[in-house]
Amino acid sequence: MKAAVVTHDHQVDVVEKTLRALQHGEALLTMECCGVCHTDLHVKNGDFGDKTGVILGHEGIGVVKSVGPGVTSLKPGDRASVAWFFKGCGHCEYCNSGNETLCREVVNAGYTADGGMAEECIVAADYAVKVPDGLDSAVASSITCAGVTTYKAVKISGITPGKWLVVYGLGGLGNLALQYAKNVFNARVIAVDVSDAQLKFAEEMGADMVINSRNEDAAKLIQQRTGGAHAAVVTAVAKAAFNSAVDAMRAGGRIVAVGLPSESMSLNIPRLVLDGIQVVGSLVGTREDLAEAFQFAAEGKVVPKVTRRPLQDINAIFHEMESGKIVGRMVIDFNRTH
Ligand SMILES: [Zn+2]
Ligand SMILES: [Zn+2]
Repeated sequence: MKAAVVTHDHQVDVVEKTLRALQHGEALLTMECCGVCHTDLHVKNGDFGDKTGVILGHEGIGVVKSVGPGVTSLKPGDRASVAWFFKGCGHCEYCNSGNETLCREVVNAGYTADGGMAEECIVAADYAVKVPDGLDSAVASSITCAGVTTYKAVKISGITPGKWLVVYGLGGLGNLALQYAKNVFNARVIAVDVSDAQLKFAEEMGADMVINSRNEDAAKLIQQRTGGAHAAVVTAVAKAAFNSAVDAMRAGGRIVAVGLPSESMSLNIPRLVLDGIQVVGSLVGTREDLAEAFQFAAEGKVVPKVTRRPLQDINAIFHEMESGKIVGRMVIDFNRTH
C-alpha cells in the first residue's frame, strides 16, 4: 500500500509499504481521506525532533477492513477516525478523569505512531471514533482535528446562549470555532482578525460583529459595544491577540488559548485577581468530544471548507501551506488519482 513518509531531508516520499499483522485490540482501516494540517508541516520539517520514516497524518477517516483479537468496539465496514490523540495509557489520573488528551504516555498519529496519510492504517480500535452516517469523509477528516479542537475550546469557554464570545483569528480553526459557537452553543460571536477577507467570510458565517485589529483597538471596541465579552477563544498565533483578549473580557471572563505563539502573554495580576479573569489552554479533544463534534457536523451545524487532492500532491500542498496560499483544508482523497 502507498504511504506518505517523512524523509531525512524534510520532504515527503510516497512509498510502497507493508503493514505488520494486527495485534490484540487493533483494527485495520482502508483510508478514504486524510486532511493536511500545519502540525504535519512541523513534523515533516523536524520542528519537534527528527521523524524520518514516520507515516504522516492525524486527520484520517477510513473504513474498517479487519479487526484483531479482542476488538468489540468496531466491526468491518464501520467508518472511523485516525486523530492526533491516537491513544492514551487508559489507566492514569488524566485518562480516568475525562482529560485523556493530557495523558503523559499519549501516542500521537503521524508523529509517535504511523498515521493516516496512507492507503491503510492500523489503529487502536477503542480509540478510533466512529463517524456517523451521512457525514462526508472529507468533511469528517477536517472535524477530526480543526473541528474537535475548536469545539472543545468553545465548550471549555463555558459560553452560554446569548452571551458574547470573541474569536481571535478567523482562519481554518477560528472559522469552525465561530460556527460551533453560533450554531451549537447559540452564543453571540465577535470575530477579530487582521484580514478583511477572513472577516468577510466570518460575517457570511454569521458573526454578530467583526473587527479588523490592524485598524482598530479590538478590546476597546468590545468593551464599548458589549460591556466586555464573556469569553474568548484565541486561535491566532500572535501574542498581541492574547493580550487583547485579556483587555476585551468583562469581570469573570474566560480566555481559552488554542494558538501556539512561542512567546509569553502579558497578564496584569490585579486585573486577574480583582476581575476574576481565567486563562486556560485547550489541546485537541477527547474521544467523546470528537464524537460530539462529528454529530453536530453530521447535522449540518458546522460546515468546514475542504478541497480534495490526490496523494501525489502532498509536497505541493506543503509548499502552498508554507506560502500561505491555502483557504480552508486540503484533504488527501485516496480514491482520487489526479
Ligand atoms: Zn491537525
Ligand atoms: Zn493515561
